[in-house]
Amino acid sequence: MSHLLNSLAQPEVKETILPYGKLDATAQELLRAAHQVRQRAYAPYSDFKVGAAFRATEDSQQVFTGCNVENAAFTPTSCAERTAIAKAISEGYRQFSSGAVVAYKPNVFVSPCGVCRQFIREFAGNTDMPIYIGQANDAQSPQEQLEEPFHNDDPILCTSIFNLLPHSFHTYK
Ligand SMILES: [Zn+2]
Repeated sequence: MSHLLNSLAQPEVKETILPYGKLDATAQELLRAAHQVRQRAYAPYSDFKVGAAFRATEDSQQVFTGCNVENAAFTPTSCAERTAIAKAISEGYRQFSSGAVVAYKPNVFVSPCGVCRQFIREFAGNTDMPIYIGQANDAQSPQEQLEEPFHNDDPILCTSIFNLLPHSFHTYK
């Protein structure tokens, strides 16, 4: 039994809420990218736009973005997180060091759905990958959206894939 107790995983990232201005530049860049790509969301049915961005672990630290893509038949709909990661996989990038999700609902952080949590987990590598969740500022002008859609005091939920999906199913091997 002891080896099972020793394998009990714990989060490496402590979940917290920080003002945008206190985040490091790489986290801010991810949130900006997620905010920007959200404008391209295809959401004619829900009118609920979501943007996501993930940073590859490879040397390039390349950022891949995605928006939600809805469908009249509903089932084929892809969330922003899965759009971003599928784009990266198809470009040859399979591991990510951090992610960001941006949407807007009053007084709520919109976190990834259950399907996306499992999808993110698959490619999160060995670490407890940080995920930054921000609220979109729809009042910003298109120029502001491009340059800096967040204010320094905007609250950001700093969480991680383990916090979102503890004791997840990982591998057959
Ligand atoms: Zn989802």
